[in-house]
Amino acid sequence: MRCCAGRRKTRRPPRRAREPRAPRAPGTLGPPSQPPPPVTAQPLLIALVSVQFLVHALVWAMTARMARRWREAEGHFALFWFMLATGLMLFVPPWDSGSAPRNLADLLIIAASMCEHRGLALHWGRRLPLTPYALGLAAAAGVVAASFLMDNGHGLRVAVVCFGCAAMMAASVRLMWRQGRAATPIFAPVAAAGYTLLAAALTVRGVQALMVGATTKISIDAPVHANIPLAIAVLFVGGLLNLVHIRLVLGRVLHRLGQQAQTDELTGALNRRGLLQHLEAVHAGAASGQAGYALLMVDIDHFKTINDQHGHAEGDRVLKGVSASLRKALRADDHVGRWGGEEFCVLLPHTTLHDATLLAERIARRVSDDGQRVPVTVSIGVSVYTAGDTDLQAVLRRADGALYEAKAAGRDRVVAALS
Ligand code: GH3
Ligand code: MG
Ligand code: MG
Repeated sequence: MRCCAGRRKTRRPPRRAREPRAPRAPGTLGPPSQPPPPVTAQPLLIALVSVQFLVHALVWAMTARMARRWREAEGHFALFWFMLATGLMLFVPPWDSGSAPRNLADLLIIAASMCEHRGLALHWGRRLPLTPYALGLAAAAGVVAASFLMDNGHGLRVAVVCFGCAAMMAASVRLMWRQGRAATPIFAPVAAAGYTLLAAALTVRGVQALMVGATTKISIDAPVHANIPLAIAVLFVGGLLNLVHIRLVLGRVLHRLGQQAQTDELTGALNRRGLLQHLEAVHAGAASGQAGYALLMVDIDHFKTINDQHGHAEGDRVLKGVSASLRKALRADDHVGRWGGEEFCVLLPHTTLHDATLLAERIARRVSDDGQRVPVTVSIGVSVYTAGDTDLQAVLRRADGALYEAKAAGRDRVVAALS
């Protein structure tokens, strides 16, 4: 049976002029009520940023696992992102209730910035002691604890976080300027400028929190519309910081790979490829009218016999010893490379045939005197660049010819090739 109540005609009351609506809480259908309190501490936005930082932490943890020598630097970066992510997560329900998680979050964020600073120092080969960090963190914890007794306690806590992070960033700027400029002359100053800006912004925020309290437009407690630009800004700055870490580590890895590709593993001298790069550069300079250069071809005498009589391992030790003696005898601008087997090639820029011959004789004496377990002598062929040498090979050939003559003349001697 149908109910006819719905069909009953009812008179509508005459429309009244529309009154301005009172704001209604989102998602509610009830009558307009008092304006709701502003939505605060946007959990979703904070969680989003936190998850993003957690991903950075995971990537750095994996990088640290793969890295061997630099594991600690990458480990510190992983810890930095992990602490930041955890610190932010403590602002999200259900952990955000009460002041204890927030204060822990404050300290985690300061500790994170300390980790980043120490990671940067490790990246540049400086192992800073842990005590100053521990003292700084203890001082921050003391101020945070004391802030409970004060009227403007929350403002003070925000200021401590801001000043703590700003101090660490300023210390990182110093590191970048002192240590990083040599390796990355453009990037390190740019990154240092970025860190300086960020440290300045944090300092301003800290002063502001001290003077007017923490609840301002850019506070995490501000209404939702103020939190969106803040979240975007934090994501952007976080992305830039991660970029700085990636650029530094990538630069270091590529530099090391480049070095390894040019270094002879056994002796630590340049390998043939590495020396050829220097040779070609110096030869091109000489061919275009700059200063000339000299070459030494150094070959260990009767090396096969050393191997046969004392074993291959002893032969390797002799090779390392001769390479070390060569490098010790040379000047800063000179380059020595293992040309192959038991033969070394030495590049002497800005050197005449006469000076190169004197240096070769000094080298030969030094190798014999350097007290190897097995007596070792070398034969050396010397050549010098002359104006007619259009090709590097011509200079190399003359040095080789001189070496051949030294061997033929009885070994343990220096022969200079006449141009
Ligand atoms: P010479 O005085 O005429 O130069 O005679 P040599 O015995 O020094 O020269 P030869 O070319 O006959 O022998 C070179 C030896 O060097 C042969 C090779 O086994 C050895 N050799 C090459 N590379 C290495 C290495 O990396 N380690 C060791 N232990 N031996 C090597
Ligand atoms: Mg030899
Ligand atoms: Mg040889």
